[in-house]
Amino acid sequence: MIGGFSLSADDRERVSPGPRSSRFAILDGLDAAGRDELLAEIDALLCRRVRDIRLRGRLRDIYRAASWPHRSRTIRFWLLWVSVFSAVTCLLDYVMQPALLGVSLVFRGVFIPVVYAALAFLWSRPRAPVIEGLTLPLTVGAMMVVAEILGNAGGGDLHERYLMAGLFATSTAIVVFPLDQRWTIAGTVVVIGLFLAFGLTNADVETKVPILETIFFTFVIGCLVPARQAMNTVLEHAYVLSLRTRIQAEALAAANARLAILADTDGLTGLPNRRAFQARLARDWAEQAARSGRVGAILIDVDHFKRFNDSAGHAAGDRCLVAVAEAIRAAVPGTALAARYGGEEFVALVPGTAPRALADIAERIRAGVTALALPHPGLPEGRCVTVSVGVALAVADGEIAGAEALLQGTDAALYEAKARGRDRVVALWTMPAAAGDVRAA
Ligand code: GH3
Ligand code: MG
Ligand code: MG
Repeated sequence: MIGGFSLSADDRERVSPGPRSSRFAILDGLDAAGRDELLAEIDALLCRRVRDIRLRGRLRDIYRAASWPHRSRTIRFWLLWVSVFSAVTCLLDYVMQPALLGVSLVFRGVFIPVVYAALAFLWSRPRAPVIEGLTLPLTVGAMMVVAEILGNAGGGDLHERYLMAGLFATSTAIVVFPLDQRWTIAGTVVVIGLFLAFGLTNADVETKVPILETIFFTFVIGCLVPARQAMNTVLEHAYVLSLRTRIQAEALAAANARLAILADTDGLTGLPNRRAFQARLARDWAEQAARSGRVGAILIDVDHFKRFNDSAGHAAGDRCLVAVAEAIRAAVPGTALAARYGGEEFVALVPGTAPRALADIAERIRAGVTALALPHPGLPEGRCVTVSVGVALAVADGEIAGAEALLQGTDAALYEAKARGRDRVVALWTMPAAAGDVRAA
């Protein structure tokens, strides 16, 4: 549709940086100055080596909010998967020692799934950092307690084996849960501490055994803490980089949109300029001709404008052009495109209008300018600024069959209006016989 002047859908697509992910929702609440400030903060951070990057303050909060879906998904998936695995393990316990089935069903089949379901529920929406962080010690703690209960019930070798199995299962949580380093350390301390404490209660082995095992596993599991931290750093770095790219892309798109509008706008009157008019005419011509079968054009020229300039000066002439442009803008329908064609000439493209309605619009424009009652200093006392208007209409399969021919038609009609004495509308329809002055001089 040919509407008021703004970026067309094509233009918008050309300058748009593409759909924005909810990870960048922070940008919704920031104006240009706020974005610049955030960009400076990010640039300062990215000056460091990747391994030294630590998000603090606002950036940390932004990252926490943006990465919540990832954290939530990862942790809930682990909890769900381990709950299923835990329930299935009842069978293994039964195979190991049939007498374990009852206690296994209670703790592996019910207790662990219930506790983990409660923790998964905690992750159904964002919570305070402490609540999120506590998930890890609780997750690994529950697993080690169940390992101890089953190991104790099994006795002998099983006790040690179950504790080690618990240690192994929980160490996956330590490395998988994308939490702050302090919570990864807290989870590790809980696991190692419980492993040692429960190991020391095993009367079937010497005291030194659990102590030596604990020292060994402290080194093994201790390696997972920096591994998790390295993953966090990489994720944070990637996010900050993508946030910077997004801010820059949106700033560029906004600048391009401003430039596109500026390039198409007449600086004096604010109307679209000739370039924009021609582009829109070429673009919309085929579509409008196909849809409505006719496209009308109106060419408007200020009468004796040279004399106006010569008498009142160029600045007064400019103010006059601004007023005339405003009158034209007010007179054309919303579906029309009014533009400054050049100098003191204006043009309006009116799609899908019948000859009579088109002539009425042209007459409204002429009368609107007259109604401004702008005294014309270059004409005899009492005369005001007027315009001459040429109208042409192209219909499908008519004599005026192209955009160029349509404009030539308006030009010829305008020439005729000037020749007949100015301050009038002359219409040139497709049929030459119908050409005529629609307003008595
Ligand atoms: P006619 O009634 O036949 O149209 O006569 P005219 O004097 O309006 O036509 P002509 O083409 O001789 O003069 C047009 C004038 O418009 C000449 C030029 O100085 C003036 N003009 C063109 N652009 C601007 C502008 O941006 N500002 C001002 N103030 N004057 C302009
Ligand atoms: Mg002219
Ligand atoms: Mg003129």
